[in-house]
Amino acid sequence: MPILYLAQFRNKNSVPSYLTFSPKLREITFSEGPIPPAREVISRPYRTSPVFPVLPTESLAPGFSGQTFLGFFAYDRAFSAIGRLLRQLPPDMLPNMWFSHGFASLLIFERAKDRLSIPELLSQSDLRAWEIWTLNDNVVHHQIDCFVAPPADVSIPSLEIDDFTALPSDLRQVLSEFSHCIYTALERSAHYYPGYIRPLCSLIESINYIISEIQFLGNTNPGTDQNFPSYLRDNPISRQKRLNQRTDQIIQLNSALSYVISQSFAGTIPILERECQVQSYSLLGIGTASLALFRFSEFVQNVFMKHPIDMAIEKKFPSLEGTNIFPSMRDFRPATWDHADFHIDTHLAGIETPPFRPKLVFYSGRLGFKEAEFSVTAALQVIFGSDSARWSLMTLTHELMHAHVRALLSAILKATDDRELEKDFARYYSDLYAYHKRKAGRWKLIQSVRSMILNFFVQKRACEEFMNGSAKTSYEATVNQLDVRFPENPDALRQWMREDFRDLNEIMVHVCDYHYFYNSNDELYLGLLWESWSTVPSVLSEIDHYVFRSLVAVATKEPGEIKERFDLSLRILTQNLEQILDRRPQNPVVECALTFLRDPNRHGSLLLRFIPALYLAEVTLKFLVSGRIQAELVSGDSNFEVEKGEYIYHIETGEFPGFDISSPVGFLADRLRRSLRGISSSVDEEHASAWVLLACASVDGSRSES
Ligand SMILES: [Zn+2]
Repeated sequence: MPILYLAQFRNKNSVPSYLTFSPKLREITFSEGPIPPAREVISRPYRTSPVFPVLPTESLAPGFSGQTFLGFFAYDRAFSAIGRLLRQLPPDMLPNMWFSHGFASLLIFERAKDRLSIPELLSQSDLRAWEIWTLNDNVVHHQIDCFVAPPADVSIPSLEIDDFTALPSDLRQVLSEFSHCIYTALERSAHYYPGYIRPLCSLIESINYIISEIQFLGNTNPGTDQNFPSYLRDNPISRQKRLNQRTDQIIQLNSALSYVISQSFAGTIPILERECQVQSYSLLGIGTASLALFRFSEFVQNVFMKHPIDMAIEKKFPSLEGTNIFPSMRDFRPATWDHADFHIDTHLAGIETPPFRPKLVFYSGRLGFKEAEFSVTAALQVIFGSDSARWSLMTLTHELMHAHVRALLSAILKATDDRELEKDFARYYSDLYAYHKRKAGRWKLIQSVRSMILNFFVQKRACEEFMNGSAKTSYEATVNQLDVRFPENPDALRQWMREDFRDLNEIMVHVCDYHYFYNSNDELYLGLLWESWSTVPSVLSEIDHYVFRSLVAVATKEPGEIKERFDLSLRILTQNLEQILDRRPQNPVVECALTFLRDPNRHGSLLLRFIPALYLAEVTLKFLVSGRIQAELVSGDSNFEVEKGEYIYHIETGEFPGFDISSPVGFLADRLRRSLRGISSSVDEEHASAWVLLACASVDGSRSES
């Protein structure tokens, strides 16, 4: 029998090994190299997956002569299950345990078949499925010895999709695609990942709302349906625009669902039935790696959902006493905002939590890290690099903060839509105008915070105009000469807002991300930002933009007057970038940023961008960032601690201690710290990354205790 591909397997090393199956020859091989010789495989299809020893220093290469058995096991929380098995299984079985990225995350090679069905393996309460292959020499003789736990109950009231058969055929088509996707995903979730049922059901609620809106929008005579805003009722062009947006949303949702289905359920048991589309993992799939994405983002979203800041803004800010917005930067004193009456934590009590609707999450080679209304994507590189700073799962928090900031802005500006904003905008404009003209008013907090947000655009213009018109001057002269030109009318202000909205968004997102997930630790935050930006093609052409974002986030922690904070942040950023370069020379992006920072001619214009940005960052931090959320993201985990402001998680790389991680934020921040410091581990990066994903896949993201 010809051997398809069998490199020599070396014992006791940490190089990932690959399990490759050739359907044509029914052969299974074990090798060190991921890519088989082209000449041999071009005519023979194969499926392959990397696998990693549970105990790297003791692991044994499986010998395939004679009869061998290969067991695949899928536990709902494999990280703690493997830890328990290390204590419960006979010691001579332990060197034969391997783990993978797939749904079947634990593999065991055995000479005696009955050892693969002992109660220690099969009676764990969270065992979802298993499968055993019988091998004669290398050939798989029998692979359908398998078990899948009974499906979880899907008796949820909101399971029916509303009738859409009366809609035009193109809409019917996208909606029927949605129905097939969602029911397929639900059926498979019930068998393999019951945790997905809830977010999938919440999508049905969303689609039913969209269907009712589409029915309204397609109606040539929409009448007086009060469920929809008047601008839609009165204007056929707005209705068409909205209809197109909604159609596009369903198409996006369908695409997201098919990604989720193929990534989560390929490689489920029976393993050979569904091949994973990511070819490097085509044998066992990336079910566990996908679950890691889902459970980490579910954990984060769950904490934010429990303290709904956007709802507190809507409910409480309209009746709370307002404050000074500092219309001129000359007398900006953010310390006067340090008052419990303004702090969001004071107002979160008694706010009802909304229904939890976690987003769909999946890997995308094309989109990388990105956020959309119903989904978030992570770069495909995370699968083999999640233990590095470049491809850390922590990057996902930036995307999740985009969704959070969108909700905050929509609560403050009271608009989910451009057209809706229009009717209130004249009022917002006159509030801001009154502030600028220092007209006394009995301001409410919502008016103050809204005016601060809009004031950012006014200040930004003033700085830009000053920058264009004047030569270099001292900071004092700059601030004293800053001439605020107030926009002529609401439309002009809206135009400024449209032009600078990206800046507004990114500044607020960076401030939230820095404080919530990094405990305002500059080394971690700047390390992650610049390592991950080193891979983004557009960064080099906009280096000033990225330098500026980093400066502003860091400055929110630093005390003093604006200019002092600017100088201090400049120094901190420079030092941190130098450190990154020290550890890993030849990073053109970081070098380029340093060249920019070291050029004193750049500082004047950077300061002028910094002034309004710091203003906005202070507004975000003082009024919109919750200490409770920050604490809860790392609470309830006895292996986690904060030492001198640093997040430390007490677990060694590759270890299976028998418990699950309660705070994935603490765990991932600690991994990031180790990676940035170059703390070496006993296994290579791909092994460590697979282990990090396995740990994150076992996080209890829906835990309800505070
Ligand atoms: Zn962003």
